Amino acid sequence: MTTVAFIGLGIMGGPMAANLVKAGFEVAGYNRSPDKVAALVDAGGRGADSVAEAVRDADVIITMVPDSPDVEAVTGGDDGVFASARSGALYVDMSTIRPDVAVRVAEAGRKAGLRVLDAPVSGGEAGAIEASLSIMVGGEPGDFEDARPVLEAVGKTIVHVGPAGSGQTVKAANQLIVAVNIEVLAEAVVFLEAYGVDTKAALEVLGGGLAGSTVLNRKGTNMLDRQFKPGFRLALHHKDLGIVTSAAREAGVAIPLGAVVAQLVGALVARGDGGLDHSGLLKLVAELSGRGLSGRDTETKEES
Ligand code: NAP
Repeated sequence: MTTVAFIGLGIMGGPMAANLVKAGFEVAGYNRSPDKVAALVDAGGRGADSVAEAVRDADVIITMVPDSPDVEAVTGGDDGVFASARSGALYVDMSTIRPDVAVRVAEAGRKAGLRVLDAPVSGGEAGAIEASLSIMVGGEPGDFEDARPVLEAVGKTIVHVGPAGSGQTVKAANQLIVAVNIEVLAEAVVFLEAYGVDTKAALEVLGGGLAGSTVLNRKGTNMLDRQFKPGFRLALHHKDLGIVTSAAREAGVAIPLGAVVAQLVGALVARGDGGLDHSGLLKLVAELSGRGLSGRDTETKEES
């Protein structure tokens, strides 16, 4: 039996770790706030009190934490993944972080005797619960093949996209596409509401044509209902748009639409809406149109 250590049991990591248990892996989980470990224990996993304890006997170690500094904090130091894991273990970071940091982490891991993959995911909370995530993987092809059985327990579309850091570059492109899609969906919803059309019927027919998308299927109803419980927090999408705008600038690539949406997401986070789902972009579009929330404001405001 392959033993998996899972660090970061939040919106994504919680259900992913539970799916690994379901697939027959022995899973030891660690989370900064200990209360989130309970759900993994209920699902049949084992709780650990520290990173070192979680990874000590693991064949595969997965991290699913918010940002680049979190990955560096969990992997480095005397009690971190690299100091505590067995030599030859596979370390798979599934968080979304900067591609250059992923390369640095891979080098540090290799020096510590580990095999390292960056394997960020797309598909949202629903994809994590349904084990249907898209997983874009950077690293050595042989390590990718060894990680495949574990990745197949949490995802459906699993593709090796190149050397270390490549998974994160592909994920940055993913976040650009998703953010711009959500923004134009929000603009379309506010536009439709302004004309008083049956918005539910409108989204149904739009979903069947060229305008159809996973974003429309997953986020359209949330927007109509003004339901912005995360899901994917605007604060995390703000982080990802920072990654893609700076990586595009370094590459000399213009992303004008992405840059505008990055500003809109940044504005929502700056005013305290970072805890809302990224479909909360609709709030800003409605306000820019002088329409407020049309008296159907059911979202809960959370801290970013
Ligand atoms: P989340 O709900 O905030 O979960 C992150 C978890 O990591 C939290 O439970 C947090 O613990 C824990 N954590 C943070 N630092 C830690 C540390 N040093 N040691 C141990 N645990 C630590 O975020 P999420 O939505 O699951 O996102 C996780 C990653 O997946 C992010 O990089 C995000 O960009 C990416 N992602 C998210 C989605 C989505 O739809 N949510 C989709 C694709 C990719 P606390 O409870 O103490 O905060």
